[in-house]
Amino acid sequence: MTEQTSDGVDRRRVLGLGAAVGATTALGGLATASPASARGAGRPSGFARPKGLDGRALLPGEPGYADEIAPFNLAQVPSPGLVIAAASAHDVRIAVNLAARRRAPIAVLATGHQHSVPIGRDAVVVTTRALRGVTVDPRRRVARAQAGALSGDVLDATLPLGLTPVNGSTPIVGIVGYTLGGGLSPTLGRRYGYAADHVRSFDLVTADGRLRRVTPHSDPELFFGVRGGKSNFGLVTAIEFDLFPAPDFYGGSIIFDGQDAARLLHAYRRWVCTVPDAMSSSVALMRLPDAEAVPPPVRGKAVASLRICWTGRPDTGAALVRPLRAVATPLLDAVAQQPYAAFPAIHNDPVDPTPAYERTGLLRDLPGEAVDALIAVAGPEAPNPVTLVELRHLGGALSRAPRQPSAVAHRDAAFTLFTAGIAAPQDAAAVRRAQAGIIRRMSPWSTGGMYLNFMSADDSSTRNVADAYPEHVYRRLRRLKRRVDPQNLFRLNHNIPPV
Ligand SMILES: Cc1cc2nc3c(=O)[nH]c(=O)nc-3n(C[C@H](O)[C@H](O)[C@H](O)COP(=O)(O)OP(=O)(O)OC[C@H]3O[C@@H](n4cnc5c(N)ncnc54)[C@H](O)[C@@H]3O)c2cc1C
Repeated sequence: MTEQTSDGVDRRRVLGLGAAVGATTALGGLATASPASARGAGRPSGFARPKGLDGRALLPGEPGYADEIAPFNLAQVPSPGLVIAAASAHDVRIAVNLAARRRAPIAVLATGHQHSVPIGRDAVVVTTRALRGVTVDPRRRVARAQAGALSGDVLDATLPLGLTPVNGSTPIVGIVGYTLGGGLSPTLGRRYGYAADHVRSFDLVTADGRLRRVTPHSDPELFFGVRGGKSNFGLVTAIEFDLFPAPDFYGGSIIFDGQDAARLLHAYRRWVCTVPDAMSSSVALMRLPDAEAVPPPVRGKAVASLRICWTGRPDTGAALVRPLRAVATPLLDAVAQQPYAAFPAIHNDPVDPTPAYERTGLLRDLPGEAVDALIAVAGPEAPNPVTLVELRHLGGALSRAPRQPSAVAHRDAAFTLFTAGIAAPQDAAAVRRAQAGIIRRMSPWSTGGMYLNFMSADDSSTRNVADAYPEHVYRRLRRLKRRVDPQNLFRLNHNIPPV
């Protein structure tokens, strides 16, 4: 059975795109950078198995070790000396106390979507895969999620009640990691702000091994820092946040031939200045693999994808999108009125683990010269192996101060710039060079800042992490770090060292 849009386009062909992009990995026969199973063999870790866990402790080379720490992004595989597969907040406390006693660094891994720094034998890793519980209070419109709940777990619990969190583009990232890094929603962000703006409380295990309930009143500074400071101040075991009515939306993606990319991007940069807050959008230059899993009209092509989410009246949405639709004849057009649950079709993110290399930045504006520069360095004619170069429109509620101040910063930026290259390790150097070229070429329009959730290993030096915050916020976070984690136990992350 096919699923037709009002334009007669088979939408499922577009929906399959994320899987198809991810499928480059399988089709290209790519390998993991360094498989955990191989790295786990033969080397002693020096950690003893702690007692009294509700979950499991796993040492390198033991059955289950490699699976427990297998990341979604295969570019960098962790190889800690001890894995605590936590089944409770009590387990997280045991792990933190053990690490603190040995002065060993400790990291948390939910899905392994975001690499920041390598994790080696000296480290303890807490995994949260077993902590996926979600409860909803529909009357108060509040959800409570355990540390390892995926965005999709939250949506499974809220959508039947007509409610949604301010979720991101894919259901398969962890709700805690997403929210602590800001939480930029391609559906509701411009309408309601960042996901972090709607947190009510955290349960947090700090470096002293205490489990604290952190609210704006219990510890305003910690509440400020955790929202935007990620795992620098402790490991979250549960999070409570506001929900919103889940609207149907007029949206999806429209894919143009790469030859039309310049026209689309020039029209887009003018168009974004005119749209209301209920319109969220992005554009992406993509190189799609020549693989059977990719829909024929776009197979093997350099394309430009326009992503739309309008949460107002459908006819108004259609009228708003019309000028962009008219830019050229699309290869695929799957923008239509859809239930909220169809939101993953807006971005069509990869659904299977892949090795991905990423770079990012923030742009203060997008004049015509910036579009020309981007097309020159990343457009269809550029000799460029990067899979995706994306500009997301910010503004609206994302630019306004939240009710409770947080460390989520650079709210004056107009666009995120994000590049991802799916590549085998032997091709990684070429991808990284091309990405560095894109970032350099766009630097005249950069704010100099960065958006934490899009910062991967290649952007996560201490210096770059400082760029994720204005100077006074960074100083404030370093003082908070001195108070709650003076030994910098939580340093295997986007690290903010104590003053
Ligand atoms: C395909 C894709 C689409 C994305 N779309 C969006 C989007 O639309 N908007 C957006 O804002 N971001 C988006 N992201 C980025 C994503 O939000 C971040 O990568 C996020 O950190 C993923 O969290 P995770 O827990 O799944 O990953 P992990 O790699 O498991 O964790 C990443 C980091 O999150 C922190 N963290 C995780 N769990 C805890 C915890 N319990 N306590 C304290 N810290 C914790 C830690 O610092 C950890 O190092 C996307 C990423 C991908 C790969």
